[in-house]
Amino acid sequence: MNINEIQSFVPPVRTLMGPGPSDVHPRVLQAMARPTIGHLDSNFVDMMDELKVLLQYAFQTENALTIPLSAPASAGMECCFVNLIELTDKVIVCQNGVFGGRMKENVERCGGMVVMVEDEWGSAVDPNKLEETLKLNSDAKIVAFVHAETSTGVQSDVKTLCEIAHKYDCLTLVDTVTSLGGTPVKVDEWQMDAVYSGSQKCLSCTPGLSPVTFSEAAIEKIKARRLRVQSWFLDLNLVMSYWASGAKRAYHHTAPINALYGLHEALVMLKEEGLENAWARHEKNHQAFRLGIEAMGLSFKVKESERLPQLNAINVPEGIDEVAVRKRLLTQYNLEIGAGLGNLAGSIWRIGLMGYASNMKNISYCIGAMADILGNS
Ligand SMILES: *Cc1c(COP(=O)(O)O)cnc(C)c1O
Repeated sequence: MNINEIQSFVPPVRTLMGPGPSDVHPRVLQAMARPTIGHLDSNFVDMMDELKVLLQYAFQTENALTIPLSAPASAGMECCFVNLIELTDKVIVCQNGVFGGRMKENVERCGGMVVMVEDEWGSAVDPNKLEETLKLNSDAKIVAFVHAETSTGVQSDVKTLCEIAHKYDCLTLVDTVTSLGGTPVKVDEWQMDAVYSGSQKCLSCTPGLSPVTFSEAAIEKIKARRLRVQSWFLDLNLVMSYWASGAKRAYHHTAPINALYGLHEALVMLKEEGLENAWARHEKNHQAFRLGIEAMGLSFKVKESERLPQLNAINVPEGIDEVAVRKRLLTQYNLEIGAGLGNLAGSIWRIGLMGYASNMKNISYCIGAMADILGNS
């Protein structure tokens, strides 16, 4: 590549209906283009305080420690594990897809002892299996699982899993990356202890931020640590003083100023719509999408009671080259959908109806494009 030929990057305009990132609302992009100010500027500090209140609303929590981490959701995951786990802590990880596997790796790298509860990819986490495992592991400290498994389009029953975990004196560590803003996430009511999410799925913001929230019980465990958290950047003891309200803020790192404008706007939009209305919209649009999919003779991978409205796993029909279909959607229609991951590579498409992208126009467009391509392949 000749450096002299490189000019400004102008991306194509796509419709994003994959597993994330999802379409970013123009209001969010506009907010991000506003002037950068200093991260200790009192105007910026006020905005950070508002962000905490908006995130408490999105998470349905009164947790004081509710902030966006300056890094993608994978860092939110890592933050929860590195802070909560002390050497040799026993952690139960429920796995029913790709992201549970990453949780396992996090536990191992933190020096925790991991015990797996495995369910089939495409099914929800089985609460009975969790309870059986807890009975055999009374010394377990933490139960970790994914609420909305983006790799398979399955949602698990957070409330029940948290109840079981607490019955055995465990803290709960929950991935809500794809659920937040799309389906109910009730941190206080369901007693979730350490929770992380992402900006680029149902919040319709750009990727790169990870909202997190921690209960009093989680904070107690973190404060009682004997050894320091091995990650300096993700050590919540330091991050907490950075996000302390108003003038008490201590310098930790330079906030991603404009990215946070974007998240603030995305959350203002969520508040304007109303959280319950956003959940209802995702459900209603999923049902409309489903009618179109079934009318084409296609079927869903996941049984109805466990389906995520914002992530539809569709079985690839016999004899269809799934890669070619996705390629044509992208080149002919500027429409991005996702492929299967891991065990499900080649056998499903993952079609997201997340956040701003969950609307009737996208649904008709996607169904029309797929009908065209499948009819001609
Ligand atoms: C997308 C996703 C992640 C990772 O998010 P990044 O922003 O890519 O780090 C983690 N968990 C789930 C369930 C996801 O869907």
